[in-house]
Amino acid sequence: MTEKRVAIIGGGVAGMQMAIHLKERGANPVIIEREPTLGGKVAGWYVLFPTFTPAEQVVAPLKQRIAELGIEVMLDTTVTAIAPTCVTLQHGQLLRCDAVALCSGSTLFDARIKEEYGYGIYDNVYTSADLEQMMREGEVRMANGERPERIAILHCVGSRDEKVCQRHCSKVCCVTGVKQAIELKRMMPQAEVFNFYMDIRMFGPGYEEMYREAQVAHNVHFVRGRISEASPLSEGRLQIKAEDTLTGRPLRMSVDMLVLLIGMRGNDDNLPLATSAGITLAENGFFHPRNHFLDNVESERKGIFMAGTCSSPKSIGETLCEATTAAERIINYLNRSNKA
Ligand code: SF4
Repeated sequence: MTEKRVAIIGGGVAGMQMAIHLKERGANPVIIEREPTLGGKVAGWYVLFPTFTPAEQVVAPLKQRIAELGIEVMLDTTVTAIAPTCVTLQHGQLLRCDAVALCSGSTLFDARIKEEYGYGIYDNVYTSADLEQMMREGEVRMANGERPERIAILHCVGSRDEKVCQRHCSKVCCVTGVKQAIELKRMMPQAEVFNFYMDIRMFGPGYEEMYREAQVAHNVHFVRGRISEASPLSEGRLQIKAEDTLTGRPLRMSVDMLVLLIGMRGNDDNLPLATSAGITLAENGFFHPRNHFLDNVESERKGIFMAGTCSSPKSIGETLCEATTAAERIINYLNRSNKA
C-alpha cells in the first residue's frame, strides 16, 4: 500500500483531511495545491459557525499533522488534466498515481457582477469574505476609519439568481450571515444590524438556535426582502432600496455599511478537468458524483474520487466527514486493484 500514490488536487481542509487519513491507512498521498500555502478558504475565515471556534483551530492541527506524517505537498502547482493513473501539471509535467481525488473546493461569487449593489464602486460595500478578514484583523471600520452604526447584510448574492446563472442555494451563507450579525453585535453592541433575506435556511445542528439567539439576545433585525440597489450618500453612507415582502411595502434605509453574503460557485477550471477525465459536471458547474446517495464521493470514472465543495456547497463539518469517507473508498479501491 505504501507504494500506492494518491494525487489529491487541492490543499484545503478536505484535501488535508483526506491526505492524513490515507497516510494513516498506509497509502502515499501527495497534495497538489495551486496557492502558495495550505488551508484553502477556511484559512481566511475568522470564527466558524455554530460554535464560534476560531478557524485557525481547525486549520492549524491539520497542517501540523501533514508535517508530522511527512506527507508530500506541492504548492504553487496547477493541475491541467486528470486521469485515474496520472495528472498533468502546469508546463505539461506528468505525475503518475494510482488514484486521483478532487478536493479543489469552489469559488466565491464575484460581487462586482451584481453592479446594482456597488461592490468595488462605492465605499463601505463589502462581501462576507471581506468582513471575515476585517474581523480577523480585530476591527470593523468604515473607509473613513469610523465605526459603523448601521449595517445591512444581504443574503443570496450570487445564489438563487437566474440572472447570473447561479440557480442553486449555497447552503451555508444564511448561517454565515447570522453568525456575522452576532459577531458584529458582540464587537459593537450599539450598532444596528439588519439581515435582508429571501428565506432563512438554518438546518444544521445548533443553527436554528443561533438564529433565535441573534434575535432574542442581540436584537438583530431580520427583514424578509431583497435589496434592489444601493447608492452613495454623503460621508460614505449608503442608501438601500428594498421591498419588505412580508408587508408588501417598499423600503428605503440609510446604512453605514452593506455586507453582501456571496455564495459558492463551481471553479472555472472544473470544465477542462472534467473533460480531460471524461466525467460530467452538474448543471451548476460543480463535479457530478456517480450517485448522490450511494457513491457521492466517487466520480463516474473508476479511480477518480471527490470530496468537499467541489461537488456542492457544504459546511466545514460535512466537508471533513466526506473527505474521510472518500479516503476509505480510495483504500478499498486500491486494495481491490492490488488483488486484480
Ligand atoms: S443559504 Fe441562505 S443566503 Fe445562502 S443561498 Fe441559500 S437561502 Fe440564500
